[in-house]
Amino acid sequence: MADIILTINAGSSSVKFSAQQIAEGKLTPLALGQIDGIGGRATFSAKKTGGEKTEFELDQTHARIDHRMALSAVLDWMDGALSGSNVVGVGHRVVHGGPNFSQPILVTAENFAALKALEPLAPLHQPYNLAGVAAAVETFPKAAQVACFDTAFHRRHPFIADTYALPRKYYDEGVRRYGFHGLSYEFIHRILRYEEPVLARGKVIVAHLGNGASLCAIEAGKSVASTMGFTALDGLPMGTRCGQLDPGVVLYLMAEKKMTADQITDLLYRNSGLKGMSGLSNDMRDLEASGEQSAKDAIAYFVSRVRREIGGLSAVLGGLDCIVMTGGIGENAVNVRKAILEKMEWFGIQIDWDANARNERVISEKGSPTVALILKTDEERMIAAHTAELLGLKQPLVPAIS
Ligand code: ADP
Repeated sequence: MADIILTINAGSSSVKFSAQQIAEGKLTPLALGQIDGIGGRATFSAKKTGGEKTEFELDQTHARIDHRMALSAVLDWMDGALSGSNVVGVGHRVVHGGPNFSQPILVTAENFAALKALEPLAPLHQPYNLAGVAAAVETFPKAAQVACFDTAFHRRHPFIADTYALPRKYYDEGVRRYGFHGLSYEFIHRILRYEEPVLARGKVIVAHLGNGASLCAIEAGKSVASTMGFTALDGLPMGTRCGQLDPGVVLYLMAEKKMTADQITDLLYRNSGLKGMSGLSNDMRDLEASGEQSAKDAIAYFVSRVRREIGGLSAVLGGLDCIVMTGGIGENAVNVRKAILEKMEWFGIQIDWDANARNERVISEKGSPTVALILKTDEERMIAAHTAELLGLKQPLVPAIS
């Protein structure tokens, strides 16, 4: 019987999953899928590696589809499509590990309660991530449940990179720059360690540019600073999130526009960034295809903020040996990447524009003081690897979670 690690990324209205076989210490991706429309008309789609896509609407005759029902559908599908497999571990993407969780954990009733207590720090993500954990405990009761945190990779930041200039009591209460996208950064750094060990020991910036976007400065394998802060709103503009914003703007919206916390949350998380600026779309491909000035402005703002942050993080690192572009935009958007990396020769980044146009792995010129790479990130694989590693170290633990 094949041993499988299942990864779950549960959001408010969707659950993404992957199944990876573990044998002789190696992970082999078997399938990827997702359930969309949780809480409403839910659809299931999944694809076995190298196989056909399966898609259908979930039967909701008796109840609205919730996370538990979504995972039951995954189990039913796996019984048919991956028959003979045995789920030994379920790895969960959990956005927030707070100040204390600096590595993945086997979920117990006790630490589950600690993760619940962090919900106010990430109200749009953490409750749904944990609904996914609780659902998986019921659906896969014999499997170990492992929580992998987006914040963990950044947990050894020096105090200066973790604090705001507020009275110390706020830091002590947990108002810190947590940083996110840690699973992506960790995955990229592992690839780098394997493929470019000398660069991996140096000063590296990873640009994770997808729907969510941030940069991370890594030195000798450790995150030393990130553009994201207390929440995943800060730093770069994103698909729908504003990125860096003077807090005075929020005070103005409250005092003068009488906007409530919910209205401001909606504005800053869902209606700003590329979508808000362009008034058209959160999707970079749509903006590149559009002739509208507002689309051009949104792209130009995105590019200019990424360039500023590259400069800032390079100053933190005191130099730059390698820059890695990843995420949907970083991996594919040739022209956006070009606009970010051009006119940086003075700074040591010399790009081979033909290599850039072909999305090659190495896009810097031979001899460029800073090596520029495009690497594909794979957060699911990082979660599966963490889960497998944890299972290798400790016996699976199956706590009851209520
Ligand atoms: P998520 O953060 O949701 O995982 P992705 O990493 O998939 O998102 O990135 C999605 C973004 O990548 C979108 O803005 C999309 O337009 C952009 N993108 C994907 N492919 C291309 C491409 N070929 N050219 C330009 N942008 C692209």
